[in-house]
Amino acid sequence: MYYSGMRYGYGMDPMYILVIIMAILCMVASARVSSVYKKYAKVRSMSGLTGAQAAMEILRRNGITDVTVQLVGGNLTDHYDPRNRTVNLSDATYGSNSVAAVGVAAHECGHVLQHYNGYLPLKIRTAIVPAANIGSKAGIPLLILGMFLSFRPLITLGILVFSLAVLFQVVTLPVEFNASSRALVMLEDYGILGHEEVSASRKVLNAAAMTYVASAASAVLQLLRLIMLNNRRR
Ligand SMILES: [Zn+2]
Repeated sequence: MYYSGMRYGYGMDPMYILVIIMAILCMVASARVSSVYKKYAKVRSMSGLTGAQAAMEILRRNGITDVTVQLVGGNLTDHYDPRNRTVNLSDATYGSNSVAAVGVAAHECGHVLQHYNGYLPLKIRTAIVPAANIGSKAGIPLLILGMFLSFRPLITLGILVFSLAVLFQVVTLPVEFNASSRALVMLEDYGILGHEEVSASRKVLNAAAMTYVASAASAVLQLLRLIMLNNRRR
């Protein structure tokens, strides 16, 4: 969904260079989360609980009985699905008793608790999912069509629609940071991880959070650039 100004005849501009730098930072952040995860996937937790067992323990402690913990395929595909109330843990997380796996499993339970406690940023995020999906698919095509037809209202509409996708990425940030902080507190309070182990889990979760920060910053930058270029055409 990266928008190339070069291709559509805008020419080189300083914002374009920033957009490219941000795209590179996104790649660096995702490479980093893989390497940090790999490192702490080798560190076995003292309690010996697997990701799945840790998740079930956290749910039990919170009196949550209608959420299922299940295995999902893929790499770093762990997520909580509020629609069918399932904590989905990937192969690397579900059956592993590493501090990385337990940290990720607890993070997903953090999302469960946000859902159960009616955490406002999560409500906003869920509410704008459909609009954000339309925004990320239709925003740029509308804008390009508007430029092609030299029809300003269509360009503006494209930018507005695209901004919904950007808003979604920004609202994701408090949701992710809050899920991680809930996770780390619970891991220590419930004695699932020791104090040192919690620090290791924190490193994994922080690295994961950085990927969201990088992609949100990148999206905001793209939006600002579109607005600036649009103003310049006036
Ligand atoms: Zn999350």
